[in-house]
Amino acid sequence: MKAEKVLQRLESRKTALLLFPVLFLVLLIVVGVLLQQRIRTMFHTYVEQEVAMNVDMLANRLDARFGAELMGMENLIRVKGTDSWESLLSDNDVDGMGIKRMGVLAHRGRAIVGDSLKVSEWDGIRQSFQGYPAISYASGKGLLLTVPVFYGENIRYVLYRHYTERELAREFDIDCFDGAGRVMLVLSGGSVPMSSREWSEADRSYIDRMELGGILRQLRARLYSAPSAALYDQEENVVFMADLKRMDGQVIGFVPASALDGGLLAVTRLVIWVFSMLVLLFAISAAYLFTRERRVMEADQASQAKSAFLAHMSHEIRTPINAILGMNEMILRESREKDTRTYAHRAHEAGQTLLNLVNDILDLSKIEAGKMELALAEFRLADVLERVCTLVRLRAEKKGLDFHVMVDPELPAALYGDGARVQQIIVNLLTNAVKYTRKGSVSLTVLRAEPEEAPEGVIVPAGDVLLVARVEDTGIGIKPEDRKRLFGDFVRFDAQRNRNIEGTGLGLALTLRFARRMGGTITVESTYGEGSIFTAWIPLRVRSKETIGDFDAERVTESESVHTAPFVVPDAHILVVDDNEMNRFVAQSLLKETKAHVRLAASGRECIGRLRSEHYDVVLLDDMMPELSGTETLERIKNQHLADGTPIVALTANAITGAREEYLAAGFDDYLAKPIAPDALIKLLRRTIPETLQKTEEAQETKEAQKPEEPQETEGTAANTAEGQVEGAAPSEAAAAESVAVTEEAAVTAGAAEADGRAGASDMSTSAAPADEADADEAAPLLDTELGMSYAGGILELYQPMLQMFADLQPEKSKVIAAAYDAADWKTYAIDVHALKSNALSIGARSLSELAKTLELAAKAIGKEETTKEEKQEAEATIRGHHEELIEKYEAVAEEAKKLLAKNP
Ligand code: ADP
Repeated sequence: MKAEKVLQRLESRKTALLLFPVLFLVLLIVVGVLLQQRIRTMFHTYVEQEVAMNVDMLANRLDARFGAELMGMENLIRVKGTDSWESLLSDNDVDGMGIKRMGVLAHRGRAIVGDSLKVSEWDGIRQSFQGYPAISYASGKGLLLTVPVFYGENIRYVLYRHYTERELAREFDIDCFDGAGRVMLVLSGGSVPMSSREWSEADRSYIDRMELGGILRQLRARLYSAPSAALYDQEENVVFMADLKRMDGQVIGFVPASALDGGLLAVTRLVIWVFSMLVLLFAISAAYLFTRERRVMEADQASQAKSAFLAHMSHEIRTPINAILGMNEMILRESREKDTRTYAHRAHEAGQTLLNLVNDILDLSKIEAGKMELALAEFRLADVLERVCTLVRLRAEKKGLDFHVMVDPELPAALYGDGARVQQIIVNLLTNAVKYTRKGSVSLTVLRAEPEEAPEGVIVPAGDVLLVARVEDTGIGIKPEDRKRLFGDFVRFDAQRNRNIEGTGLGLALTLRFARRMGGTITVESTYGEGSIFTAWIPLRVRSKETIGDFDAERVTESESVHTAPFVVPDAHILVVDDNEMNRFVAQSLLKETKAHVRLAASGRECIGRLRSEHYDVVLLDDMMPELSGTETLERIKNQHLADGTPIVALTANAITGAREEYLAAGFDDYLAKPIAPDALIKLLRRTIPETLQKTEEAQETKEAQKPEEPQETEGTAANTAEGQVEGAAPSEAAAAESVAVTEEAAVTAGAAEADGRAGASDMSTSAAPADEADADEAAPLLDTELGMSYAGGILELYQPMLQMFADLQPEKSKVIAAAYDAADWKTYAIDVHALKSNALSIGARSLSELAKTLELAAKAIGKEETTKEEKQEAEATIRGHHEELIEKYEAVAEEAKKLLAKNP
């Protein structure tokens, strides 16, 4: 089961591990492509801006050049005056076109100096006569720069400067981009006075194509808002355009992208390089993660295996230890031989220590395997503290230490959480305090703290109470350097000094883990040589407005300590009502040692009959009976006032959470879970039978008379027989009763054993408590004699007849169950299997009991009104699916019982 799960988990983790890199690679590629496109766009924008800027500069250069020419002409007039034109233009010569380079024109282009020019050919002449410097172009003739010559306010002449096209090309350099750019100057009429050196027809047709393709239109549009613009075309050229200011025209051209691509190439290379690095990095980290994950998985597997092994071993070890303890208990009970008793006593002590160690390891492995479930239920704080005090006071007193308890009366009376673990935490801290204190005192202070006072890491949910248990001692203390390691597994300090103090170094490790599991923590203050303060901080839900009030630790201990005395009530009359003969027999046998007068009734009707004529001091009334249930019987008794003043106790195998409260609410005076744990029974009688009938002193005397020299050992039932009697949410009474009988170390983990006991309603004794459910399934024997013996109070004389009875009754009971099954009478079936459930458990047939319980629940579900049709069908299917198995198992257990009886007549 477990191995399969682990394998499944590993498989799914492996798939996840493979899927992850593939997904990541795809993601990386998508990101890469997007990145590349983005970079490309960014780069294009950048290049276009650069080109536009360059072209703007070119246009400005041209403008500046023409501006300088015109200004030079104006200056010439100003410097030389307007009279001596000949001298002014003395250096003027004829250009290649046969036109004088410079000249002065009168109206209509008539030359004063130089050549006459046609006004119709040169637009600029007219403009200059209007008062403006101008530049005009005539195709094939070149460029003419003209400025007006003023005589006072009037313009009389126009000074001109002529450039042929060749001169233009020579003197006005419009090359750009290191000659790679093709550029031309286009005037508004479409004429092209200048172009770059390499300009060709092909370039012209390219520009025409661009015009058609719309790129030039786009560029022109851009020129509304900027002096220049550039755009990539389809053919990997960058086309550009810039406005000229002094002429009505533009600079237009293009430059192959390849001439600019040096940068792009570098960027692309950089991107590829970064990308490759990323992929490499990814590959390395994936490989690293993969190996690490594999290592983690392997470690996980190993740790799981270790935990499973530990849990299994602990279970396996516990069983024989319990057997040894049980046998030892028999020796203690039966032997009067002094030496034998002393040895047995020692064996008991050692066995208990071993058991506690195994329990600790089991707890630890459960925590490590993540299997430690908290058993959350309502609990009374006073009950927990009472048990804590009981467990610790005796030990403190034995060492001559004062034990003080202070409980804040304002604490809530009822809390919700894992009461047994809370108890275990406080007991562990107190036990350590007692262990590591030679003289002085140990004190426990229990109070509530405000959420703000919580230590780091402890969060108190709104409405919860932060319970603080402070354990203070005047012991050996802890060195500051040791404090950090205090909570480590198997950590112990001062080996030399503490060599006589038993311990494993697991107690605090577990205590802290329990506290953390509950959302709390443990803090420590200590002065080496003076003492320590261990504080447990535990947030718990509040279940009542009622407060705990004055807590009397003394009283509790005294009343508990009386429990060691045998309990005899020779004058008491007890009525046991149970339809199941085996249960009646068990109850009667267990009651034998009380010397009470015990009467038995097999039905509610018989019980009522007896109560009409007889007086009883207590009635133990089974609830689940055919015809009249216990609850119905009680109702009649109450209505008819048949037993006013007599405590009536519900007996039930429904040891589920809240059962006690339910029965008390129904009017019962008390509650006892079946199978009956001997100690729980005695405790119950102690509570319910009038004190006047209880012969404690007499009993004490008897006890003294029998007492050998080991005082604490005498009458206590072996710890394993009593632990973990479950009464729903109510913590184990048996565990409390056990406390006095157990030896020193036993007390430490009594809480742990109890917590184990709570794991399932049927998990009644340590001997049979499985390490976990899975273990129970695999290893559970048909008959766990340890468990059976524990229900028989460790008395073989009771266990044997129980087995006998179980075996004898089996054929008939099987028939009854089968008849109810055949008739599909689920109500009767539920009652029959319910009886089998408790009978089976009381002889130690746990798996049969559990199967019976499943079928009982299913049969009950069918009878319930609130069950839906589907649920009923499901329940019936469960019964039909397991009925045969139940009958077979029942037979098999009976056979086993017979075999056992034959072996040990
Ligand atoms: P154990 O008591 O079984 O050795 P614990 O885990 O309970 O293991 O405690 C670990 C160690 O911490 C003890 O061995 C002891 O040295 C030290 N220690 C615990 N509680 C106290 C205390 N109250 N005073 C002094 N030392 C303590």
